[in-house]
Amino acid sequence: FAARTWHPDDTVVDVDGLAVGGAELVVMAGPCSVEGVDQIEASAAAVAATGAQILRGGAFKPRSSPYSFQGMGEEGLRILREAGDAHGLKVVTEVMTERQIDVVGRYAHVFQIGARNMQNFALLKEVGQAGLPVLLKRGMSATIEEWLMSAEYVLAEGNPDVILCERGIRTFETATRNTLDLSAVPVVKQLSHLPIIVDPSHGVGIRDKIGPMALAGVACGADGLMIETHPNPPEALSDGPQSLYLDAFDALMGRVRAVGAAV
Ligand code: PEP
Ligand code: MN
Repeated sequence: FAARTWHPDDTVVDVDGLAVGGAELVVMAGPCSVEGVDQIEASAAAVAATGAQILRGGAFKPRSSPYSFQGMGEEGLRILREAGDAHGLKVVTEVMTERQIDVVGRYAHVFQIGARNMQNFALLKEVGQAGLPVLLKRGMSATIEEWLMSAEYVLAEGNPDVILCERGIRTFETATRNTLDLSAVPVVKQLSHLPIIVDPSHGVGIRDKIGPMALAGVACGADGLMIETHPNPPEALSDGPQSLYLDAFDALMGRVRAVGAAV
């Protein structure tokens, strides 16, 4: 069902009244992790002021080390949703396990499936039945074909609302955190009708490289972007080195819109 041959027209995913995959670029921004009320309130106010539509923030975090900050859990979800509602933003947040689906579903407008779970087929089946749109990140070692097959798991459960997210893949290159595979955007557009967004933050992992790659993502046809921002990146509990200062994000959004209008 993910194939263009099944569905020649682009799919537009309805996120609680917001169209993803339509004429308008959709930008999801906010911190890597929800850390507290003040941090999220500042983030939501700044994100909304730029015209971005969706607030991001993880409350259940897939950290490489079990000793790193694991997220605030339900309290974080509540803080995220309250700030989103207060500023007219939808919210997207990661669900890591089937057991978390109920609680995350009470607060999220979109379930994020992280790169590390792209081939967690049991989780994909369950979110396919959970009644909310799904943001499916590309696995860090996944081919485009494998990624689309994972989307297929969600669609096959009767949930047509899948948004793909290119977030960089593992290559031999070490100058960047991952290698952002922007060629995936036109390839996916040809193979599939599903909307696709680009996450340059995890894609390159270095603050001053996020802007150029965000603009490139829009230029190559992405339906939107996911960008990590933080009111105080040096103090962030996760992904500080790749998080944009809020004023830099605001400036970038002006340029994103200019590129979006040109393509
Ligand atoms: C995130 O969005 O903070 C995240 C953990 O992303 P990924 O699954 O792409 O690593
Ligand atoms: Mn992150």
